[in-house]
Amino acid sequence: MNNNYDLIIVGAGPSGVFTAYELIELGIAKDKKILIIEQGKAVDKRYCPVEKTGKCVKCKPYCNITSGFSGSGAFSDGKLTLPNKDSDTIEVGGNLDKYLGVQETKNLMFYTDEIYLKFGADKSVEGLEHLDKIKEIADRAKENGITLANCPIRHLGTEKSHELYKKLQDYLLENNIDIMFETNVKDLIIKDNKVLGVIIENSNGSDEMEILSKYVVLGIGRKGANWLSEMCAKYSIKNHAGVVDVGVRYELPDSIMKDINEYLYEGKFIAHLPPYKDKVRTFCQNPSGFVANEVYDNNLNLVNGHSYKDKKSTNTNLAILASHHFSDPFKEPIKYGINIGENANQLGKGNVLVQRLGDILNRKAYMG
Ligand SMILES: Cc1cc2nc3c(=O)[nH]c(=O)nc-3n(C[C@H](O)[C@H](O)[C@H](O)COP(=O)(O)OP(=O)(O)OC[C@H]3O[C@@H](n4cnc5c(N)ncnc54)[C@H](O)[C@@H]3O)c2cc1C
Repeated sequence: MNNNYDLIIVGAGPSGVFTAYELIELGIAKDKKILIIEQGKAVDKRYCPVEKTGKCVKCKPYCNITSGFSGSGAFSDGKLTLPNKDSDTIEVGGNLDKYLGVQETKNLMFYTDEIYLKFGADKSVEGLEHLDKIKEIADRAKENGITLANCPIRHLGTEKSHELYKKLQDYLLENNIDIMFETNVKDLIIKDNKVLGVIIENSNGSDEMEILSKYVVLGIGRKGANWLSEMCAKYSIKNHAGVVDVGVRYELPDSIMKDINEYLYEGKFIAHLPPYKDKVRTFCQNPSGFVANEVYDNNLNLVNGHSYKDKKSTNTNLAILASHHFSDPFKEPIKYGINIGENANQLGKGNVLVQRLGDILNRKAYMG
């Protein structure tokens, strides 16, 4: 096996996949040796047993929802939020506009959308018609101190995003990108402030070996955030912790969300509500969708949601999140977020805590 590369990408989530894709488009991959290392499986081998078992079986060594080619996006329903052409601001996409500026960020979002279209994304875009109805929804929100971030959405659908990523996986392999699956990057090799490669092991923890490379790109997502914090501490790498979103996933009948589902597909509502006026927002709305369990290291159980293009439920689910930047008196926002998740899991006997609205009001906890 070759253990000398020009560039190593750790993680085959969207960030790792699109890094490799760009290296192909720039003509760099043609005569350079590029390797992606991913602890999960190839996208066509990823499968979540919950559809058969009706219950999360906590796949070992890694959760198929959060690991493998296409990362935590494999079972995502692939909602691509596009910029609103008429707006001078961007309400989505984290802080990218602060680094790149609004116009450059918009250009990048359209460019990314083109790649998805090239690999077979559905051509229709939600939220561009019924502008009078959308205005009515925005006005009603405004009356209650809530802003509607009006962005068009391209919805791929869970099953279709799987197919799309299979095409992307084939495209990378056909264009000189090597991919190592079921392989964990355990450590970085850094000497005199220079990266020299990585130390890998099989995903079951055996067969440790070194792979050398002048460049290492880390695209390890939420799943690898803890590991990255450890690496930064071990090698004194300067870092800046981002915002942590804490919240709940809310499931309710489609009929209640009818107008928002029909005219917008996803309503992105933002408010700074009393008493603390922290930013609270709705996120990842899935009309006629499904709630999904995702398992992280040490059996941390969290929830997400998705919706298929064809298979439908009669419920909409969405997250309601409060964003917080924890910097004082501690600088470990990820650890703090994990603590909150673990405490909730403890109340749910190791599972996700499920409550009906009445249960919350009556202060009753139910297990997932
Ligand atoms: C159910 C669900 C629905 C979602 N719906 C949407 C949506 O509709 N639209 C949207 O835009 N986003 C959605 N998301 C979020 C989206 O999937 C993530 O924002 C995106 O996947 C992040 O990409 P990433 O490459 O940064 O990280 P990830 O996708 O998390 O990929 C990181 C990869 O790195 C691997 N890795 C980590 N550490 C190591 C290591 N040490 N060694 C080797 N490999 C490692 C992991 O196995 C993983 O495959 C959804 C997520 C989920 C779970």
